Amino acid sequence: MRYSSLTRRIAGEGTDAWLTHLLAIERLARGEDIILLSIGDPDFDTPRPIRAAAEAALEHGRTHYSPIGGEPALRNAIAAVSSPVLGRTVDPGEIVIYPGAQAALYTLAQCLFDPGDEVITPEPTYVTYEGVLGAAGATMRQIPLRPERGFHLDPADLERAITPRTRGVMLNFPHNPTGATLTWEEAEAVAKVVTRHDLVLISDEVYAALTFDRPHLSPASLPGMAERTAVVSSLSKSHAMTGWRCGWSITPKPLVAHLVNLAMCMYFGVAQFVQDSAAEALTHAGEELAAIRSAYARRAHLVVDLLGRVPGLVVRMPEAGMYIFADVRGTGMDGKQFASALLDAVGVAVTPGEGFGPSGAGHVRITLGTGDARLRNACERIERFVKSGALISSGRP
Ligand code: PMP
Repeated sequence: MRYSSLTRRIAGEGTDAWLTHLLAIERLARGEDIILLSIGDPDFDTPRPIRAAAEAALEHGRTHYSPIGGEPALRNAIAAVSSPVLGRTVDPGEIVIYPGAQAALYTLAQCLFDPGDEVITPEPTYVTYEGVLGAAGATMRQIPLRPERGFHLDPADLERAITPRTRGVMLNFPHNPTGATLTWEEAEAVAKVVTRHDLVLISDEVYAALTFDRPHLSPASLPGMAERTAVVSSLSKSHAMTGWRCGWSITPKPLVAHLVNLAMCMYFGVAQFVQDSAAEALTHAGEELAAIRSAYARRAHLVVDLLGRVPGLVVRMPEAGMYIFADVRGTGMDGKQFASALLDAVGVAVTPGEGFGPSGAGHVRITLGTGDARLRNACERIERFVKSGALISSGRP
C-alpha cells in the first residue's frame, strides 16, 4: 500500500515524551506496583450533575445528529462564560464545537495555514502541535520559554522569530507542561507583534479554569485581538471530562463557515448527549469546578513541599494547571535519564522534559491527576530514589 505524504508529517512527534509512559503501562498491565504520573488524565470522576445530565439526555433520545457547528444550548453557555473573560459580548455564532480541543486545533490549522507557512510556538511545546501544524504543511518555528524566566514568554523572542513566511502564532497559556501563565505585559507585547505583522493567533486555553492565584488572562481580550485570534478550550481538564471529547473554538464569524465545512467532512458533529452534558457543566457545575481546581492547588503544594526539600531537585509552584515541572539537573541526570531510572528503581512514571523541547531539558513533568495519598507515596519514592543515587547503581549512562 502506498501512503500519502501526510502520514510522514504526522508521525513520530513526542516519542521521547511517551516512552517512559508506555513502558510504565506495560508494567502496570503485568500487575506491578507502578504510580503513573505521566499522563494528563484527571483521576476524578466526571462530577455527578454532569453524568446525570448525560443520563437524562440519553433517556430523552438525544442520540441523533447535531448541528455540525454545535448545539445552540452549548454555544450559548460557552458564550456566557467566555464573555467576561474576553471583555466583550461573545456571539454564539462565533463558536464551533468539536470532539475535544485537539480536534479544534487540527481544524483551525487546516483552515488557517498553507504548505510553507511558518507558525511560531513556544517550546516546551505540547506534543501534538508539531503534527497538527505539519498536517497542514506548515512549519513549526519554536521559540524558547526559559527556565530562568519561570518559563514565561519573552516577547522579544517572538519578534526575532518572524520571517516573511510567518503566518501565525500558537500559544498555550496556562502552559502544559510548565504551568506558566501570560502576564498582562507579555500579552500586550504579543498583541503588538501579532498585529504589527498581520498574523493570526491560536490561543489554546484548555487550562484556563485551573489558575491558582490570578484569574486567567486571554490574549484575545486585548484591544484589536478578537478579529485575529482563535481561542480554543475544552472541558477535559476543568471538569474531568477527558473521555467525553468536547471542546470548542471562538473565532471571527467568517472563519466559522470554513471550520464547519471541515467538521462536516471529518466527524459531522459531536454527540448530542455529550453537548447537553457539557452545557450542564458550564451552567451548573461551578462548585464541582472549584473543588477540582482547589484539589490541584492542594496537590501542587503537597508535591512542592515534599520534593522541594530533596537535594538536587528544584520544584516551583505552578501558576495554573495540573502539572509540576521539576528541575532535576542538580541530580546530574537529564530528564530522560531521570524518568527512565526512576521507573526502574521505584516504579514511578513521570514525563521527561526533553520530550517537549530543548528548553525542557533536565526537567520532568509530574502530573497531579492522582489522589493525595498516592501522590505522597510517589514523592516519598522519588525522594528515596534521588537520595540513593539510583542512576549510578542502576548502571545507566
Ligand atoms: N492542548 C493542550 C495544551 C493539552 O494539554 C491538551 C490535553 N492534554 C489538549 C490541548 C487537548 O485537549 P482535549 O482533551 O480537549 O482534546
